[in-house]
Amino acid sequence: MMISASAVLAVPVGLAAVGAVLGRDLLRRRVRRPRRILLAVAACVAVLLPANVYLACTHHTGWFSAEPLVSLATVLALSGLGFLVSLDRIDRTRVPRPRRVLAVGAHPDDVELGCGATLAKLVDSGHEVRALVLSNTRRGGDGGARPEEVSDAGRLLRLAGVEVLSFPDTRLGAHESDLVRAIERVLDRFNPDIVLTHSGHDQHQDHRAVHLATLRAGRRHSSILCYESPSATPEFRPSMFVDVEDHLQVKVAAVAAHRDQRGKPYMAAEQVQGLAMFRGAQAKIRHAEGYEPVRFLGGPVDRW
Ligand SMILES: [Zn+2]
Repeated sequence: MMISASAVLAVPVGLAAVGAVLGRDLLRRRVRRPRRILLAVAACVAVLLPANVYLACTHHTGWFSAEPLVSLATVLALSGLGFLVSLDRIDRTRVPRPRRVLAVGAHPDDVELGCGATLAKLVDSGHEVRALVLSNTRRGGDGGARPEEVSDAGRLLRLAGVEVLSFPDTRLGAHESDLVRAIERVLDRFNPDIVLTHSGHDQHQDHRAVHLATLRAGRRHSSILCYESPSATPEFRPSMFVDVEDHLQVKVAAVAAHRDQRGKPYMAAEQVQGLAMFRGAQAKIRHAEGYEPVRFLGGPVDRW
């Protein structure tokens, strides 16, 4: 019995559909514009899968058969998808000298909002990146779910580890000495080359408390950079920028992993993208994350 071309071609089209559904997170992490790829796969599958299945199941005896045309369209569409993915693939060139990077945040989602794209870029460049979250935000949302969401976001960014502590939300400033000791413990254990933390130019009292505690705990560390929060004041004036063009959609996905906070305006993809565009305009590129350096010891800044 002869197997028709349509029966053979239905298999990779079906696999593309299954791959797009199961591998959505991987796609978000590996390509710049995952939505464009997913839409292209959906369009191909919606048209070509039923066409190939129909032709494979019917027997044509007339002078005209649509099978060669559908087969050609299928091969071209699958090749086009492969080309689109390769065109959009995020650069993952490793640096010769990897560093250790620690991002410190007061609450779940702070690190993703402030420096998520930079962290993903650093991971892709071969650096070891970890995050420390001081509060699991029992008052600001579902205290049981948010640490889990931090882990989901950490997995998307491909962080080497995320530690969530349970200092009381909104009252971090009342535990200054304990905060300093907790951060010191992580700094001693991990010994990061670069520490990222909140800026002092922030309206949120917890963010300011973590900024001060990180500066005290990291007093012997050579590189400390302050990232931006949605509650940053107009005094937040970054003088160091990281090009996050390739990793902006990874950041959007990591922010969206905080399902408990969905609905807050600053969690919306448009706002995350808009801020990156604004900081990008300041840095004369398309998309950037901005930092206020406390001090920075490094080589070519963007590659760190
Ligand atoms: Zn916060």
